[in-house]
Amino acid sequence: MKKSKPFPIPVRAKYSCLKCPGYCCSYPEIEVTPRDIERLAKHVGLDYRQAEERFTKYDPGEKVRLLRHRKDNVFESTCMLFDQEKRRCTVYEARPAVCREYPDSPRCGYYDFLQFERAHQDDPEFIALT
Ligand code: SF4
Ligand code: SF4
Repeated sequence: MKKSKPFPIPVRAKYSCLKCPGYCCSYPEIEVTPRDIERLAKHVGLDYRQAEERFTKYDPGEKVRLLRHRKDNVFESTCMLFDQEKRRCTVYEARPAVCREYPDSPRCGYYDFLQFERAHQDDPEFIALT
């Protein structure tokens, strides 16, 4: 079976999301647009309002909608659309624009940090917490 990548990987990427516990999905303020919600709704077979309610919450301070989180077994919490066992996105094809764009560079700062800590601990499975 063909394995899909959990995240967009630029050709010259110096990081591997498959070897990462998903730091970027633990970021508490992942902003979503109406277009993102519409795409998510279509992907999971809900209408717009249902998807908005289920997957997002309103931040009255910033006046934006954020992805809802839930308690995680590695980080304090992760996006509720994150598979905590497989450590990858469950809606990869329909993920929000901000998730598609991140890290918008051949390097990922989180991954550099992870590699540094794994080398330092001499443990390729070590999960460094920020
Ligand atoms: S933190 Fe970086 S390496 Fe880890 S999943 Fe996110 S983009 Fe991939
Ligand atoms: S939608 Fe997917 S890629 Fe974006 S934060 Fe949630 S789990 Fe991560």
